Amino acid sequence: MDNCIFCRIAEGGIPAKIVYQDDQVLAFEDIHAQAPVHILVIPKRHVAAVQDCQTGDQALLGHLLLTCSKVARMKNLTESGYRIVTNTGADSGQTVFHLHLHVLGGRPMAWPPG
Ligand code: AMP
Ligand code: ZN
Repeated sequence: MDNCIFCRIAEGGIPAKIVYQDDQVLAFEDIHAQAPVHILVIPKRHVAAVQDCQTGDQALLGHLLLTCSKVARMKNLTESGYRIVTNTGADSGQTVFHLHLHVLGGRPMAWPPG
């Protein structure tokens, strides 16, 4: 999609520190890391947010979560723990309207979020 920064990253038009990819998904380091490990997992195809997914996207959504788990293993977070977040809409603070799951770890985190 034009003017979507994550589509451009997925197409290779904007550089990113990629940690994993396959035919459907891409995982790369967040440019403003909020924790020692902060990876974004996105579908390569443009979807704005979870609420824009359809029944036919079930496999993709599952694959995104499994990719978060894979990334957490790659970053040795399985023992210490980590957080998976997907912001949706204005109140959540979503700033990039291409579906992405944040994988955050490497430090203790507070709950509830601010
Ligand atoms: P959200 O606020 O949930 O929409 O998260 C968007 C995230 O994308 C933020 O954590 C940004 O730091 C991150 N981000 C924005 N542009 C880039 C980029 N070019 N490369 C990597 N991460 C980015
Ligand atoms: Zn996009």
